[in-house]
Amino acid sequence: MKKVVKFGGSSLASAEQFQKAGDIIRKDFSRRYVVPSAPGKRNKEDVKVTDMLYQCYQLAEEEKDFSQLLSRIKARYDEIIQGLELNVSLQAEFDKIEANFYEKAGKDYAASRGEYLNGIIMAAYLGYEFIDAAQVIFFDEEDNFDAEKTNQILGQRLAVTEKAVVPGFYGARPDGSIKTFSRGGSDITGSIVARAVRADVYENWTDVSGFLIADPRIIDNPEKIETITYRELRELSYMGASVLHEEAIFPVRREGIPINIRNTNEPDDKGTWIVESTCQKSRFVITGIAGKRGFCSINIEKDMMNSEIGFGRKVLQAFEDNGIAFEHVPSGIDTMTIFVHQDEFMHKEQNVVAAIHRLADPDMIDIEADLALIAVVGRGMKSTRGTAGRIFSALAHANINVRMIDQGSSELNIIIGVKNEDFEEAIKAIYDIFVLVQL
Ligand code: ASP
Repeated sequence: MKKVVKFGGSSLASAEQFQKAGDIIRKDFSRRYVVPSAPGKRNKEDVKVTDMLYQCYQLAEEEKDFSQLLSRIKARYDEIIQGLELNVSLQAEFDKIEANFYEKAGKDYAASRGEYLNGIIMAAYLGYEFIDAAQVIFFDEEDNFDAEKTNQILGQRLAVTEKAVVPGFYGARPDGSIKTFSRGGSDITGSIVARAVRADVYENWTDVSGFLIADPRIIDNPEKIETITYRELRELSYMGASVLHEEAIFPVRREGIPINIRNTNEPDDKGTWIVESTCQKSRFVITGIAGKRGFCSINIEKDMMNSEIGFGRKVLQAFEDNGIAFEHVPSGIDTMTIFVHQDEFMHKEQNVVAAIHRLADPDMIDIEADLALIAVVGRGMKSTRGTAGRIFSALAHANINVRMIDQGSSELNIIIGVKNEDFEEAIKAIYDIFVLVQL
């Protein structure tokens, strides 16, 4: 058995948290490859080391004094080292970082030091080999992640390494300079390492016991999701469920490696399994509900639209020309509606309207703002009669007007548009009808 374990920032925020992570790793010999984040928040008011590094580098770039902030960052690491009673000094590393800040080594370089230094401590603490991610994770000239080169070189390196720590979040460009993934990107590194060693499982240790059926800020104590497929997760994370970085599923998905989200503070909890496919029925017809506020719909009408070839293309061209991505396009016989993010669309709306008129010559355009989209996701839905019926009768009972319905072609989800102000009530109504009634 080979497991890759990634620990998030809150799991490594202090010596005490490091010890919990260490206990977890030592309990299972197959936990051979460890991917740490940078130290996160120790409490609500605390600041993540990554954010401190960004701030510190900003000062360096403005040619202001950054030495105090850099010392505070060093103190965070020293506290961990002392708490773990390790015989490690990061002084030389910090001297190098300081010099590189003066040289303006880049924002990505600065941010990456958070995981780099935590990796050094983790390797010393566990007695594992430290492998700098810059040697094994690669980006190309266009700053895109180079999956194949990475997989080859990282795979070869780890094939001859029994136990290793590879810091998360960054890699190197062809010229050797450092490039990071987007925020939260250590999740991606964990997945890349799992693919490279063909791990049996990718364990992602964080501060929650996996995914919940709905957002706990809306539903009191929601039930946990035990097993979810990659595709279901994709739908939910697109709509705002944010335990795992959106892109983290892609490397492991290629190899059919399951991800297990676990809680460092509750290590006996089984967490959530993310798998390619499963014969396990989920406990409820739906796997999860997620949603976002802040959408706008552009409703376009034109008589005989249905027989005008190319009408849709012309309309979408107007959005493309203005650099706006569309989210959903439900359509009727003589109507077509485009859903977009309100904040992206707002300051370009008149340009888009003019472009639609010019390109597609519609009879009428009507814009509606302040809409929310809710995705009800479940692999069980396509084989269960009446799912849509239950959703809409629950919403009707809650006095919520449904503005849009879109059943994704995957038959994995139903997307519902409501007014922003109905968002929370709608989620509660759907949760109640599928989950509460069954408990
Ligand atoms: N430390 C980085 C961040 O705060 C990456 C990560 O934690 O995954 O975004």
